[in-house]
Amino acid sequence: MSNEKEKIILTADRPTGRLHIGHYVGSLRNRVALQNTGEFDKIYVMVADAQALTDNFDNPEKVRKNVLEVALDYLAVGLDPSKTTIMVQSEIPELTEMTFYFMNLVTVARLERNPTVKAEIQQKGFGASIPAGFFTYPVSQTADITAFKATTVPVGEDQEPMLEQSREIVRSFNRIYHTDVLVEPEIYLSKNKASLRLPGTDGKAKMSKSIGNCIYLADTPETIHQKVMSMYTDPDHLKVSDPGKVEGNTVFTYLDAFSREEDFPEFLPEYGNLEELKDHYRRGGLGDVKVKKFLEKVLRKTLDPIRERREEYSRHIEDVYEILKAGTAEGRKAAGQTLFEMKDAMKINYFDDASFLEEFKAGLK
Ligand code: ATP
Ligand code: MG
Repeated sequence: MSNEKEKIILTADRPTGRLHIGHYVGSLRNRVALQNTGEFDKIYVMVADAQALTDNFDNPEKVRKNVLEVALDYLAVGLDPSKTTIMVQSEIPELTEMTFYFMNLVTVARLERNPTVKAEIQQKGFGASIPAGFFTYPVSQTADITAFKATTVPVGEDQEPMLEQSREIVRSFNRIYHTDVLVEPEIYLSKNKASLRLPGTDGKAKMSKSIGNCIYLADTPETIHQKVMSMYTDPDHLKVSDPGKVEGNTVFTYLDAFSREEDFPEFLPEYGNLEELKDHYRRGGLGDVKVKKFLEKVLRKTLDPIRERREEYSRHIEDVYEILKAGTAEGRKAAGQTLFEMKDAMKINYFDDASFLEEFKAGLK
């Protein structure tokens, strides 16, 4: 029943906070663009609350209050519920059941090699007390992806090891159970290098809700101003006349990710393009404040309409709730179908399988 010609998108975000500009350039912007190509048969986007609980199990309130926040961010950036199915993970229990069977197809040693999980364990300071649920979240993520037979997963670069793990599980499942039920997903990364893993405003780690180094899609113009002005630049660029470094300079990284050719005539007509601005900074004679003011305008151009749409949807939050509920019901059907096919391949669908009893009876004779 698997239809290899279908093109299907699945991605998810953890409701551990509102979404930020790292999500936007790393994944959301691509999702909206792919959605609007009209080339995909199905598009699923999920609020991964169960995954968020793997490292927030003692704080379900935080997860609960961010479910609708993330849904608002989705709608604000232009995900359209008439084209994209928006769902809540924990309300699709079929995913949990699939995870249970996938657990058998991975080894602890293999899970230990996942560099993203390794880094997160360090960052969260779990020490020797790593929750098994957190450690195995790439397996549950495989269920999220395969339940919808996703072919295309638009995510940031940090998700590369997860996709590799998913592909391995799919191959193992199909081989062991002699089936082609599951589909190997492909990662879809941003073409723009700065967008693959946008750093935080502190310039240190990846922008991440858990670290708190974020510019949020919902931030007010005042907050954006304040965050941009206090951003990390080149620590050796002390005087305006000093030559400056562009590489590793977060302000320029954000310009790489956000600025467009047309921003120059509009906001900074002395320069023809980003390369000219960078060259001047490298030579010396260009102050951080000027670059930051430009960045602020560039960011506002993208973020202002998003924030306005978000406010509009907030005024109709009941509709957002209904969108989530309807999307989840639809997603549950698709996941149920895949689970049925999986159990059929595993020959454990005893009560839907007439030969189960017949074979046993034949053996009794
Ligand atoms: P948490 O700290 O709770 O893990 P997060 O900020 O890392 O949150 P996730 O919900 O884990 O966000 O990630 C959702 C999606 O956004 C994934 O596809 C991830 O690759 C992408 N993403 C997250 N942060 C960035 C970033 N800084 N740059 C590019 N993509 C990102
Ligand atoms: Mg993350």
